[in-house]
Amino acid sequence: MDVQPQRADVLLVGGGVASVRCARTLRRHGFTGSVLIVGDEDHAPYNRPPLSKELLRDDLADELVLAEPERWYGRRAVDLLTGRRVTTIDTDAREAMLDNGGRIAFGQCLLATGAEARALPIEGGAHALLLRTLEDARRLRAAVVAADAGAAVTVIGGGFIGVEVASGLAAVGLRPTIVEMASDLWGGLLGAKLADWGAAHLIDAGVALCRGVAVTRLDEESAWIGDERLPHAFVVAGIGVRPRVELAVDAELEVGDGIVTDADQRTSHPAIWAAGDVARVDGRRVEHWHAARDAGERAARSMLSLPVPPLRVPWVFSEVAGIALDIIGQADTWEEERWMRDASVLAYLDGQQVVQLAIIGSVLSPDTARDLVEAGASVHELEDALQS
Ligand SMILES: Cc1cc2nc3c(=O)[nH]c(=O)nc-3n(C[C@H](O)[C@H](O)[C@H](O)COP(=O)(O)OP(=O)(O)OC[C@H]3O[C@@H](n4cnc5c(N)ncnc54)[C@H](O)[C@@H]3O)c2cc1C
Repeated sequence: MDVQPQRADVLLVGGGVASVRCARTLRRHGFTGSVLIVGDEDHAPYNRPPLSKELLRDDLADELVLAEPERWYGRRAVDLLTGRRVTTIDTDAREAMLDNGGRIAFGQCLLATGAEARALPIEGGAHALLLRTLEDARRLRAAVVAADAGAAVTVIGGGFIGVEVASGLAAVGLRPTIVEMASDLWGGLLGAKLADWGAAHLIDAGVALCRGVAVTRLDEESAWIGDERLPHAFVVAGIGVRPRVELAVDAELEVGDGIVTDADQRTSHPAIWAAGDVARVDGRRVEHWHAARDAGERAARSMLSLPVPPLRVPWVFSEVAGIALDIIGQADTWEEERWMRDASVLAYLDGQQVVQLAIIGSVLSPDTARDLVEAGASVHELEDALQS
């Protein structure tokens, strides 16, 4: 007997912030059709940023990281199916297949499947804890609690995740060492001045740094850099993510480094949108929380044929040894890095034009900073904004 598929006017694949924001925006604009979020994790959608910050330092309740409280879904008539993976999308039939054999017919579909942490491709790489999910964060927190005070921990990767994790480990009295392959923190992508600032604060907080070297293998109790052994209580790796594009590849959508969409989040199929870490929007894939949230909103507007606002420059918020760090913009090149306002704002300049900003300790609002970068403001306009 052929089982009739369940139907959703809008099917949101992936239980992350991009899907939730899409659902919220659909309802805010009066959409009355059925909306279903399918996520393969066992939790309601949650925010990942606290996993490498508050949740590492403290035993917080899961509810504190939820993207929306559980009752929100009922109130907004948003159906939520957790612990179920969409295995394939039949674009002709407009149907999604589930890992339990179920089928969901849809009118419009958003692919917001996010990204997964890259595993460490070295001998013994499986000894490294990864950090992407709430379960990963609980495992990491358990390792923290089990470690003796002052125990050494190896953190592989000096990007946003590695820097935040090492900061948190030092804050709870462990002795982390960051091993970063590039010669500077953040893979050198944020320039030498910010990397030197970050290194100084991490070292002050009790984090050791090994830059320009790679961990070559792991065993049960240590990391090896060639013949040099770093003993540790445990090891964490934060070496980047891989966008989860499999569904889109199978469905023969256009995929590059992420699912390719136009500026309105539309994929190469007219009934399918993509948003968040998995999407390459108008030529760029951004892996940050604000971008994912905004993309979900943009996709909803696009589905409803409402005007979609122009793409904003990326904004990533982070922490270094307890100090807030906001990066506004994602410039590929610049000519000069200039500290301003008592070294609390780093301006990345192309001639006199501000192409990216690093803001330390929240001294400038990210919205103002975004406006300045988007307007191609001059360094003098930035100075004026910093004085007002
Ligand atoms: C530890 C950590 C800390 C972070 N800190 C910051 C920060 O401080 N600032 C910042 O700007 N950004 C931060 N980020 C990045 C930010 O969290 C991501 O950009 C954001 O989560 C992306 O949201 P998303 O909805 O695109 O995808 P995700 O959050 O990855 O959600 C996608 C969901 O879809 C599920 N899924 C995948 N495939 C399927 C399928 N076939 N069927 C069903 N479900 C599926 C996944 O399991 C996942 O639950 C952090 C990320 C991590 C991991």
